[in-house]
Amino acid sequence: MKTAPAPLEIVAADGFELITADGRRLIDGMASWWSVCHGYGQPHVVEAVQQQLVRMPHVMFGGITHEPAERLASRLVTLLPGDLDHVFFADSGSVAVEVAMKMAIGYWQRHGKPTRNRFVAFDHAYHGDTTGAMSLCDPNRSMHASYGDAILTQRHCALPTDEVSTEVFARLLEQRRDTIAAVVLEPLVQGAGGMRFHDPETVARVRSLCDEFDVLMIADEIATGFGRTGTMFAIDACDVVPDILCAGKALTAGTMTMAVTVARQNVFDAFWSDHAEDALMHGPTFMANPLACAAANASLDLFETEPRVQQAREMEAQLRTGLEPCRDLPGVVDVRCRGAIGVIQVDRLPDVEQLRQRFVDAGIWLRPFGDCIYMTPPLNLPRELVDQLCSVVVTEVTRAFKEALAR
Ligand SMILES: *Cc1c(COP(=O)(O)O)cnc(C)c1O
Repeated sequence: MKTAPAPLEIVAADGFELITADGRRLIDGMASWWSVCHGYGQPHVVEAVQQQLVRMPHVMFGGITHEPAERLASRLVTLLPGDLDHVFFADSGSVAVEVAMKMAIGYWQRHGKPTRNRFVAFDHAYHGDTTGAMSLCDPNRSMHASYGDAILTQRHCALPTDEVSTEVFARLLEQRRDTIAAVVLEPLVQGAGGMRFHDPETVARVRSLCDEFDVLMIADEIATGFGRTGTMFAIDACDVVPDILCAGKALTAGTMTMAVTVARQNVFDAFWSDHAEDALMHGPTFMANPLACAAANASLDLFETEPRVQQAREMEAQLRTGLEPCRDLPGVVDVRCRGAIGVIQVDRLPDVEQLRQRFVDAGIWLRPFGDCIYMTPPLNLPRELVDQLCSVVVTEVTRAFKEALAR
């Protein structure tokens, strides 16, 4: 935008800090959009990628396989519950969602129900920026609203959090099941669509209604996966096994772009055939890129050797205490924390650009968005830096609202 200030030039990232061109160090409260789950420059990840770079930075994944991908796939299916046993490698989160959609549509085609090619998604959903994924985003509140009927029409409704919304959701599935391939959900935390939380019972309710009406369930764990909400995957806290699961963002510890779409046995079986036309035809050029796989394997090593998920769980209490003073500010609608996610929701943001600049001046990097000032720091951000993040946020948000009131 013409009116926006120039972007901040970052020349290096070290540990938990971004280093600006003019030599300042900022605590990264965003973990580069949820992805840098262990902080920057983790030696184990760097070494793994360096070694892979020398051995084989890339090879096509059609008719070829390689150890980094095989190992990663088998580790992911071990981490995931139930028979989520089949991994498709995509090159970004949005593409992983596209692949999930194609899997669901293809599943019903192969079961003789080609009209089941639409999706149910929820209000405030965000599932990515490619055209298929855009269609799943909340059509009214998303940044894609301006594309109008260039985007596929899907069904959206409120999350089934209470009796009334559950009834509406159930009726939608019942009446539209002949056209619906799957229900798509960000379990426990809806991210870019407003940083909204719901409880494990809601996720379980979605699963059981999908079962009742024989509709597939897709869990989009691109933001919530890899410890962010306090369990390895958000579904682990819900005791739910979706039919298809997408993960991305923190998969490679913020090193390389890669995501996965993982399918249960029943979905895989629909494509497992003697006939070429039954295969799932999708093959990104950089599918299962060995550098990205090496980074992801090294990241999973760190999840095994360090108490990363525990750290995310413990951060929740600290964020709660640290951000609590904001709750009483006029203009603050809600303060909520889950795992390594802290959110201050406001009724109207004070001058966002000014707030962001003041955060930078105070040594932290956060990017308020929509009606939220939120943080998603590296899961292992040391306690004193979590405190520093919170105290800068409390100070600057308080000051911004005070100034707004005085005007
Ligand atoms: C970020 C995100 C995506 C899109 O992933 P990209 O890698 O940005 O394409 C999809 N779904 C959710 C829930 C996300 O947070």
